[in-house]
Amino acid sequence: MSHNLLITGGAGFIGTNFVHFWLERHPRDRLIVLDALTYAGNKGNLDIFLGRENVVFVNGSICDQGLVERLFTEYKIDRVVNFAAESHVDRSIAGPDDFVNTNILGTYILLKVAKINWLDNSVCNHLFHHISTDEVYGSLQPEDAAFTESHQYAPNSPYSATKAASDHLVRSYNRTYGLKVTTSNCSNNYGAFQFPEKLIPLCLINILEGKQLPIYGDGSQIRDWLHVRDHCRGIELIIEKGTIGQTYNIGGDNEWKNIDVVTLICNTMNDLFKASRKLKTSFPQSPCARDEDAKSLITYVEDRLGHDIRYAIDATKIKSELNYSPAMTFEGGIKDTVEWYLKNKAWWTSIKERSN
Ligand code: NAD
Repeated sequence: MSHNLLITGGAGFIGTNFVHFWLERHPRDRLIVLDALTYAGNKGNLDIFLGRENVVFVNGSICDQGLVERLFTEYKIDRVVNFAAESHVDRSIAGPDDFVNTNILGTYILLKVAKINWLDNSVCNHLFHHISTDEVYGSLQPEDAAFTESHQYAPNSPYSATKAASDHLVRSYNRTYGLKVTTSNCSNNYGAFQFPEKLIPLCLINILEGKQLPIYGDGSQIRDWLHVRDHCRGIELIIEKGTIGQTYNIGGDNEWKNIDVVTLICNTMNDLFKASRKLKTSFPQSPCARDEDAKSLITYVEDRLGHDIRYAIDATKIKSELNYSPAMTFEGGIKDTVEWYLKNKAWWTSIKERSN
């Protein structure tokens, strides 16, 4: 049976990867991508699909109730996958307004319209899948056990607080009204199409441009990294086989200190440049073009306010109940990601020009 999916935030990093992933695996489904094209959204990510009959791109906000209602009716939406969010912690510290609007109010609008369309019209076969983050659980000490789904919520930034609020709203629509919902809380993602402000693309682009690699504090903060396509695999499993009303952590048992991630990127880049004369001529500003170590660019900067020490996901539930396992190793995924950014210089240079 084919479905009509409303993919919100589908022009952002994970949403884009999900659209690519889903269309490869479910070519008969119809995808309605609703994205407000904020600084983080890029319609060009979906260009290759936009002529297709079963892919519709709509430039608009999840906070626009009239628009969301029209899309539900016009396209007979029976699945929502909600990626749309303001997602950058530093921006949430500088100005939380957009985070409250999109992450909380926008999710509420989607739930409200879904309830009217599905429950009030007795559309039994429906699902609202909400994408969330491990940051809702707060921060761990190095010796603490990883976050399970029953870990108490303790968000520390305006970003994670608004994501936590949206998770609660999603849960309440299931418990109160019986809306069929699932939620996934994932660890840090990396891979193709990630906006250049995030740690991994920032570092690899700065190496290419010979710019400093800023490390917050002493770089000892620990994050649990998952390749974005492994995230998409987890979401697909939950949508297809997850238990209604449940939340699932998605992660790959892959904890790394920030400084070690940056070191891995530097070493990967050093090796790639050593093996390629073309790279040296294409990126002459890079220290690697002069056979110097990319690590020479590492610079320690003042720590972020309220910087969480460690996130770590216990993904036992999705592994045991849905037979999930990530396919990528971190070293392989980083190499893959570095190669994607090398091949797609036009993509990131145009984004950087736009945001200057
Ligand atoms: P992103 O910032 O790259 O993309 C967000 C997308 O949402 C953009 O295309 C943006 O234009 C769109 N958007 C913003 N406000 C909107 C609105 N009001 N209406 C419609 N579209 C709007 O974010 P991402 O990294 O792809 O994250 C996607 C989701 O996954 C978010 O909910 C985030 O909390 C969650 N998540 C991200 C990570 C990560 O490591 N990136 C990890 C776990 C969970």
